[in-house]
Amino acid sequence: MTSLPPIALFDMKAQQALIRTELDQRLAAVLDGGRFINGPEVAELEQKLAAFSGCAHGVGVSSGTDALQIAMMGEGIGRGDAVFLPAFTYTATAEVPLVLGATPIFVDVDPVSFNIDIADLKRRIALVEAEGRLRPAAVVGVDLFGLPADWPAIEAICAEKGMFALDDAAQAYGASLGNKRLGRWGHATALSFYPTKTLGCYGDGGALLTDDADRAELWRSLRTHGEGKTRYEVERTGMNGRLDTIQAAILLAKLPLLEGELAARTKVAAAYHAGLAGKVQVPEMVPGHAWGLYSILLADAGQRARVQDACKAAGVPTSIYYPKSLHRQPAYAAAHAGAIAAGAPGLPVAEMLCERILSLPMHPYLTEAEVARVVAAVVGAV
Ligand SMILES: *Cc1c(COP(=O)(O)O)cnc(C)c1O
Repeated sequence: MTSLPPIALFDMKAQQALIRTELDQRLAAVLDGGRFINGPEVAELEQKLAAFSGCAHGVGVSSGTDALQIAMMGEGIGRGDAVFLPAFTYTATAEVPLVLGATPIFVDVDPVSFNIDIADLKRRIALVEAEGRLRPAAVVGVDLFGLPADWPAIEAICAEKGMFALDDAAQAYGASLGNKRLGRWGHATALSFYPTKTLGCYGDGGALLTDDADRAELWRSLRTHGEGKTRYEVERTGMNGRLDTIQAAILLAKLPLLEGELAARTKVAAAYHAGLAGKVQVPEMVPGHAWGLYSILLADAGQRARVQDACKAAGVPTSIYYPKSLHRQPAYAAAHAGAIAAGAPGLPVAEMLCERILSLPMHPYLTEAEVARVVAAVVGAV
């Protein structure tokens, strides 16, 4: 077993080999054109990203984190505002409201979808309203591991309360819910092109999607230091949040593969499901899932450690997303403790998932034999 080559958790080499010629041509065009900032590739990519999602506007930005930040800056979110977000997600989702002076309110997640728990969201909004110290300003729904959050419910809550609905789709570009791709749910959708995401560049990059022309225009200003109609007119406080032309060129070479890659990810997920269902808790095969990650639940932390060891011995990498709930992180614990003066309810599901979750190799170029090796390593250890 150990003599077999190791499997990749994510694989960017197989994909690169398929489009190496296009990549070289796209990069050469940027080098020849010399417009490294706001080159024509950026506008071309923005239009293609929006078209892929079926929405009106795409705005390229420097990372997924900056996409979240620009979206919140556009709504004027800051001191005195409460931003509701799942406790079980990547740190960037919580960091942005804090950087802007707002208060993150951590919400528990659903034990099956791992996404924000709607009943707990409503409960925490009611607690913040009852205290009256903070204004419920926004809900950030995260489509964790590629599975869309419950957007109809989040949209309904935000419409009722006059809150901003922001989709952190950093792990889920290409996913759809109902007959709509992400990008059309909520008021704004933030994407990350970090290399291991479903659409990744070769560095940092991100984008915002919306159907709202005014928001798109505002974001273009915010990503360029708040500039107005003319270059040296500063209309508002902004930031340097642009997407590099080189990264846009790389994404343009990769985008034509995405549809096929999403289908290939679904095939890998289905093969995992067939091999692992009934032995460990597997994610549901939900149509429209982008399968950015494939994460299983083990019985407890001890069994998870045994499975990780067995996988490692078999040349199968695994990873834990996430080992610590955000409300327990040193950087956020004080904000969490102070957010609701009367004391916030616990976050038992987020804490349970941190003990038991494990992500298996997931990328579109996994072979049937590789998936079988992963399944055998996991099954042999439970
Ligand atoms: C990756 C990620 C981000 C941040 O994206 P960057 O491009 O790395 O800044 C934000 N939210 C979630 C859920 C992510 O997975």
